[in-house]
Amino acid sequence: MIVDAHYHLYWDDSDPMDFLMGCARVGARRFSKNTPEPMNAEQLLQMQLPILADESGDKLVQLMDESGIDKTLLLPLDYWYWFETSQNTQPYDIMKKNEIYATAAKNHEGRLYSLFGIDPRRKKSVSAFEKAVSKWDMKGLKLHPTTRYYPDDPVCYPLYEKALELQVPILIHSGNQPAPMPAKYSEPKYIDTVAADFPELKIVVAHIGHGWWRQTLDLASMKPNMYVDFSGWQGVYQNDPAYVASVLRSAIDTLGPWRVLFGSDGALLNVIMPLPEWVDSIKNINSVGNAKFSNEELEIILGKAAIHLFGL
Ligand SMILES: [Zn+2]
Repeated sequence: MIVDAHYHLYWDDSDPMDFLMGCARVGARRFSKNTPEPMNAEQLLQMQLPILADESGDKLVQLMDESGIDKTLLLPLDYWYWFETSQNTQPYDIMKKNEIYATAAKNHEGRLYSLFGIDPRRKKSVSAFEKAVSKWDMKGLKLHPTTRYYPDDPVCYPLYEKALELQVPILIHSGNQPAPMPAKYSEPKYIDTVAADFPELKIVVAHIGHGWWRQTLDLASMKPNMYVDFSGWQGVYQNDPAYVASVLRSAIDTLGPWRVLFGSDGALLNVIMPLPEWVDSIKNINSVGNAKFSNEELEIILGKAAIHLFGL
């Protein structure tokens, strides 16, 4: 059983264009690494948008079939609040976006599941979260603090209390992030404060904190309620597969396999590496480098851990 525990759907107006352009700039620079100036990011974006567009989750399920993925956990992003309040963009209906995610999960029962995503600074975020879990069967909460709030800001705490009450996990982005979002708000040490204040709340540190992975593992070694997903490591894997294997080995050695979750961070990351290739890379991780993994460990990190944690 393979579970992708970190995936985002995109469609027209699902996310601010500035964010997508930021991602396109990263891709453009990567695809033209060896030239003095990057390829045209705008062109790359316009080429990719129709390929990525998938409001229903139908394309994703087809891709899961091609990749051998049984279940995917969807994470709605709310970058909009920051754009609305600081960049004068039109107010965005974040509940509508979450409902689209919930509908995709409902229409693909047993294949797609979704967390609820909201900026904690929005009014009524707590009651909205409660509705999402009780009425839409959403499996927990996703926060993306790179829209300039810290995860240990008191404004977030009512959501954590509600997650505890509803007995669902939360997942917080941690690590690098394209412009116009700064990464610093998502440093693992701010998530550690949450884990300290809510020792019974299960908290996934997304991406193992990317380059902060040592900090994440060190902090999580003292906070048994901290989990990690290793989505978004495809680019690093392409550069140095053995290094990724050694990071994964450290994660399992430090936390045990049940707190380490496979993920892709698609659909955007599929542009860097096709999803079937990422799944195969992890399935065959024993073929690169010196780090070795038992079949049992691979079965747990590739699926069983996410099924257990999120009750899929
Ligand atoms: Zn993500």
